[in-house]
Amino acid sequence: MKIAEKTKSKPLTVPDTLPLLPLRDLVVFPHMVVPLFVGREKSVAALEAAMARSRLILLAAQRDATTDNPDIVDIYSIGTLAEILQLLKLPDGTIKVLVEGVRRMAIREFLPTQEFFEVVACEYESHAQASVEMTATMRSAVAQFEAYVKLNKRIPPETVLSITNQDDPERIADIIASQMILKVKDKQDLLDTRDVKTRMDLILEKLTSEIEILKIEKKIRGEVRTQMEQTQREYYLNEQMKAIQKELGRRDEDSVEIDEMKEKIAQAGMPEVVKTKAERELRRLEKMSPMSAEAAVARTYLDWLIELPWSKATEDKIDIPEAEKILNEDHYSLDKPKERILEYLAVRKLSEGHRGPILCFVGPPGVGKTSLGRSIARSMGRTFVRISLGGVRDEAEIRGHRRTYVGALPGRIIQGMRKAGTINPVFLLDEVDKMAMDFRGDPSAALLEVLDPEQNKSFSDHYLDVDYDLTQVMFITTANLLHPIPRPLQDRMEIISLSGYTDDEKENIAQKFLIPKQIEEHGLKDKHVKIEPKALTRIIREYTREAGVRNLERSISTICRKVAREVVESKKKHEITVTPQTIVKYLEQPKYRYGQIEEKDEIGYATGLAWTEVGGELLSIEVLITPGSGQLTLTGKLGEVMQESARAAVGFARSRANVLQLAPDFHKKNDIHVHVPEGAIPKDGPSAGITIATALISAVSKRPVRRDLAMTGEITLRGKVLPIGGLKEKVLAAHRGGIFNIICPKENERDMNDIPKEIQKVMTFHHVETMDEVMKIALLPAKPAKGEAFGKKKH
Ligand code: ADP
Repeated sequence: MKIAEKTKSKPLTVPDTLPLLPLRDLVVFPHMVVPLFVGREKSVAALEAAMARSRLILLAAQRDATTDNPDIVDIYSIGTLAEILQLLKLPDGTIKVLVEGVRRMAIREFLPTQEFFEVVACEYESHAQASVEMTATMRSAVAQFEAYVKLNKRIPPETVLSITNQDDPERIADIIASQMILKVKDKQDLLDTRDVKTRMDLILEKLTSEIEILKIEKKIRGEVRTQMEQTQREYYLNEQMKAIQKELGRRDEDSVEIDEMKEKIAQAGMPEVVKTKAERELRRLEKMSPMSAEAAVARTYLDWLIELPWSKATEDKIDIPEAEKILNEDHYSLDKPKERILEYLAVRKLSEGHRGPILCFVGPPGVGKTSLGRSIARSMGRTFVRISLGGVRDEAEIRGHRRTYVGALPGRIIQGMRKAGTINPVFLLDEVDKMAMDFRGDPSAALLEVLDPEQNKSFSDHYLDVDYDLTQVMFITTANLLHPIPRPLQDRMEIISLSGYTDDEKENIAQKFLIPKQIEEHGLKDKHVKIEPKALTRIIREYTREAGVRNLERSISTICRKVAREVVESKKKHEITVTPQTIVKYLEQPKYRYGQIEEKDEIGYATGLAWTEVGGELLSIEVLITPGSGQLTLTGKLGEVMQESARAAVGFARSRANVLQLAPDFHKKNDIHVHVPEGAIPKDGPSAGITIATALISAVSKRPVRRDLAMTGEITLRGKVLPIGGLKEKVLAAHRGGIFNIICPKENERDMNDIPKEIQKVMTFHHVETMDEVMKIALLPAKPAKGEAFGKKKH
């Protein structure tokens, strides 16, 4: 749409009648030059009539644009007289015509012409009166129009120029009206309004509301765009990256990687289900952008599937004499466990396919549980893996996390299998007694599935998401204590106890195994270092106090380290002999005093023997009697069972008050305080009853307890001594502590076979049935003392 250059209306002679051209969706204002495409028969006829006459025609809008064949009533009665500037007949019969609006006219009457609309029309001129108000309205309309054009991209910015050049309010109003994007009805309203001021007001109002709408539209567009941009940004960047990578030839690298993976999947010997899964995952990976987090997850997963052993196995060789040789090669003594292992292997060999129970080595740290496992693997020609279950409280540590978790990995079992690299390793599960259960699930239930031959054919790991067959694996477990292991697990196990070594055994193990091993590990030669037997004994007795040989090995390692330094520094061929005197140079001051026994026989102090997870331990028990009101106080780390024992001991002492010549109300007039000074280790096993009772009776009767004596046994209220567990461990502990007299329950006589012969030789055992016997052996006569408060002296 153009605006005519002419400033004044042409002095046209308007004929009485005019052909009329109905316009579907357009209102033409005076002075506008508009191209029109005319196709309707009646309209073409009107144009032809106009051309034949004066080239003048009346343009009036239809009320409804969709009406094809409008009637008189369908046409607005105010229109615009127009002059035809150009007319062009197009090949399809339609006409393109360029018209210029001249002035407003009102239709008076429709003539009965059939071919086209012919009307009688009269002047419909605008009224304009110059006023300050008019100017002001005009200026704001112009300013608003400028803002409107800026916001509306569909109006060419030059239109603003055509207005600023004008000063005729009427023209300005018409130009704006024609340029604004409005509904036909609104435009017609503007055409109908004769008063220029009113028209201008109307325009201003429309402009203001249009601007408001446009602003909101713009804001919404902006918001939508930022949203779109954010989501599209990543996409574009990814695409760009792909393009860059393509340019750099990286894509090839990726496809090489994919090809390699394909190859590996083919060769991994996976079961069909797993293979299909791996291939599907690989196809997914191919489609991903290689640097995306998603791709990294997929790659790691595939890596796990590929690296896990699916069919690779070692061939079992079970040759009993050979296995025996290997076990002996690797371990000193341990005759019983070795025998049990060989029997186990023999059964395995005979009943191929039948896998039997799971071996479980139970014993304190450093007694060779792990290394026995390793030897079994060696003797069978299998690979060996070890995982520790100590502190595992989450089921996911056994079964893994689902892949949807960030940084998810398979559980320890599958990790172990990957490390093993074969489907039939010897798999050592260390510290099964240290698993804990909490809200994250019960790991022992998962472990049960691992160990159960009925279920472990299809072990499910959350990460792996495909079943894994564990049937070929030979599981061995280890534990320090038996009782914390959940019952259902115990039921599947064959328990082999390793209770600890005597000093003699330790010396042998050190000389034959630990010293040569450490010398080699430190890059030394045999000649570099010699540890005298006496020095070794000193290390065992004064630097370590343990059932196993872990600290012993550590001490030897420390010596070797220091020797290595000396060898390197002195550069000459060094030969160092470690003697009992020179040990201090390497290991600093001794940590323990050998012969823990007290210097003299004490009242209210007895030595007991406890069985803990680090083996046997000496346990001193103190009882103090003070005048009071009969309170029983227990301090130190007394387990629940020991508290019970303490109460039973008091009960027994009361029942024997008469025999023991105690005042019958001694328990009422005194407070009894039982204390276990060496309380660092949890004492388990109800075996301190006679020790507490002895200390108590000693305290109340003022009879000292023999210091060269240690005892173990549980007590009933009637003073019967009940059997205990872990006799061997306890005897070893007494021996380590330099105590050679032991009181133990008669019923434990049957365990004496377990006790090494050389120990039996040096020790005296008192097997007792009642507390009275204990008292006879343990309590010495009371020394004469002043202020005897509790009992009448016998001696
Ligand atoms: P555990 O698993 O019971 O805690 P390890 O098997 O780790 O103990 O043993 C600790 C160290 O002591 C290892 O170097 C092991 O070889 C050595 N060892 C333990 N018992 C013996 C033994 N009877 N003969 C030889 N070496 C032993």
